Amino acid sequence: MSLQNIVDCHVHSHFSSDSQISIKNLVLQGIKVGLAGITVTDHADLDYPNNLSQPGFDFKDRARILNELKNEYAGSFKVLQGLELGFQPQIVERASKMVQENSFDFVINSTHVVDSIDVCRRPLNESWTKEQVYRRYLTVLYDSVSMFDNFDVVGHIGFITRYVPYEDPSLSFKDYSDIIDMILKTVIQKGKGIEVNTAGYFYKLKAPHPGFDILTRYKELGGTILTLGSDSHVVTQIGDHFIPVLQKLASIGFEYICYFENRKPVFSKI
Ligand SMILES: [Zn+2]
Ligand SMILES: [Zn+2]
Repeated sequence: MSLQNIVDCHVHSHFSSDSQISIKNLVLQGIKVGLAGITVTDHADLDYPNNLSQPGFDFKDRARILNELKNEYAGSFKVLQGLELGFQPQIVERASKMVQENSFDFVINSTHVVDSIDVCRRPLNESWTKEQVYRRYLTVLYDSVSMFDNFDVVGHIGFITRYVPYEDPSLSFKDYSDIIDMILKTVIQKGKGIEVNTAGYFYKLKAPHPGFDILTRYKELGGTILTLGSDSHVVTQIGDHFIPVLQKLASIGFEYICYFENRKPVFSKI
């Protein structure tokens, strides 16, 4: 198995406030690790509950750089324009407009904020049990797929597990099967997909987001649209753990992995 047909569909450049990497260096590293391409998915988190993040970036400035690199590497390495859109219920209309007004290849619908709390910086509710916290997170994730339409895949299902203090942070399908089924069925009904986000390994969780139990259920329910992303904020993370994850996806029964171009899935055989 090689990465020659695989695009890393989730990488951050310096147009994200939490990354310093130039787009050129993302491209050079993608070529170095043998990928077919990258999709640069910088953050737009409208109404983010502190000033550390940003509601978006200069889309035109980034598009100019991406288009130059796209032309430079045409025929040898794909350079695609993506967006990681942070969901909150009150931003749906503004976010849809933002997506419509710009020409992205790919839009990830990610939940970073729950009840106005950025779950990577603060506990959701210190008096809640792990089950209460995860159920609330998953309920907002369900809202993100049911209330919002202008996206291609749901980002990093289980993202919250990176930041919780529990001895066992795992978010298992069997413990939340009712709400996870609602999320997966809605994704499939809407013709959307989910991403397999390998940053779980970077965060020492020994699994991607979502875990293979949830991916197995997605397959059982008829899900076929899967993208693979490293969620790189440092250059060496690009393509991280892709080969073992692809092998595992094949063993679950998935035959194809996707990337998106002009908002349409392109399927590559695993
Ligand atoms: Zn994210
Ligand atoms: Zn990300």
